[in-house]
Amino acid sequence: MKMQLTARRPYGILLLAMMSWWSFWGCDSAPEPPNPGGAADAFAQARRRMVEQQLAGFGRDITNRRVLEVMGQVPRHEFVPANVVREAYEDYPLPIGHGQTISQPYIVAFMTQCLEPQPHHRVLEIGTGSGYQAAVLSPLVKEVYTIEIIEPLARQAEATLKRLGYTNVMVKAGDGYLGWPEHAPFDSIIVTCAPEKVPEPLVRQLKEGGRMIIPVGPLHAQDLYLLVKEKDRVRQQAVLPVRFVPMTRK
Ligand code: SAH
Repeated sequence: MKMQLTARRPYGILLLAMMSWWSFWGCDSAPEPPNPGGAADAFAQARRRMVEQQLAGFGRDITNRRVLEVMGQVPRHEFVPANVVREAYEDYPLPIGHGQTISQPYIVAFMTQCLEPQPHHRVLEIGTGSGYQAAVLSPLVKEVYTIEIIEPLARQAEATLKRLGYTNVMVKAGDGYLGWPEHAPFDSIIVTCAPEKVPEPLVRQLKEGGRMIIPVGPLHAQDLYLLVKEKDRVRQQAVLPVRFVPMTRK
């Protein structure tokens, strides 16, 4: 018994010494400034790096100042499952359960920038998924309406957005192919799942002069299209080859 006690003592002293060295050199984490979710978070540095390297960095083209600012604030790690939290700010999409994914940060920023969001805009999103894209739009526009076909994902995204204080986002479980006629017309529409063709109801629910960003095509040959609705025609342009989960129907 006695021997055990003496044998342990050096370790205790060593631990104490290490702890005081740690705080002496300021290695214990300093509180970060609050984010829109309210809680201080230890991911601020990863988020800054994500913006600098993946969005505004060499070979990337996110130049909209408001978009860059918001991407630097929204806590992406709050929208991903616990097992991939450490990868939340990496340059690739991540699984969010139910066979679905949260898009790569660059794609989220690119699509947001294509919409040219304005503070008075009301935006429709099809494919809520984790709620991250809706959270990115939230501070940039007046209202975000978002529809998710997988009910548990819709409920979870709704809870996350509420917990983090994104109060201007309305979530609905349902088939986004049909849009949300009660709240139409929208200043812009963002679709984050890929149909084979642009859904007619969505074009109808877009304001004149409004913009829609939507991936179209089969799994291995999709392009992101930017549509602009003009007086008597819809102008469309393929802007980026992409790979989104397919749009499913009820
Ligand atoms: N924007 C999401 C990523 C979405 S992944 C995010 O930020 O996390 C695409 C989502 O579209 C999936 O969750 C899928 O269930 C949903 N989806 C597929 N078909 C749909 C439809 N017809 N209506 C609404 N959502 C649909």
